[in-house]
Amino acid sequence: MDAASSDVACAICSLHRDVEHLKAHEIWRSDRWLLRHHPGPAPLPGWCLLDARRHCGGPLEFDPEEAREWGLVVQQASKLVQEVSDCERVYAIAFGEGARHLHLHLIPRVSGDARTTSWAVADLYRNVEVGRTIPASAAKVREWLGRARAVAPTIFDRSFSVDR
Ligand SMILES: [Zn+2]
Repeated sequence: MDAASSDVACAICSLHRDVEHLKAHEIWRSDRWLLRHHPGPAPLPGWCLLDARRHCGGPLEFDPEEAREWGLVVQQASKLVQEVSDCERVYAIAFGEGARHLHLHLIPRVSGDARTTSWAVADLYRNVEVGRTIPASAAKVREWLGRARAVAPTIFDRSFSVDR
């Protein structure tokens, strides 16, 4: 990532420069995308973020190659979350308000866990954020990450360029 594609004031760009954080949370990356687990406190084990690696607000700002890859990378990242979480569905939500840098929330929708039903998941998120609800345990997140990293090479298409 060159300097022009990074914004010093952006929380996501700053996180992408944080080697220790990425060592603990990163699952997979290509030249354009980075999949990572939600930082602690995490609302659920398996709550992931799919980021654009360059400072880019979202699909409205994609270059043609990003636009072509986006569908594929969202599908494959969602498959990974589904497989590792063993959930029926995976929600994909991007507001881009906290940081104007694309970070798509990929959220395991687990049947039998009412906290993960549609907008209840937003309540869960806010309750964990303010300390009203207990977050996912660090041990469970680590265990989830171990499995996610093990399956990532079998799920992500080898056509994604990874020049680093
Ligand atoms: Zn940024």
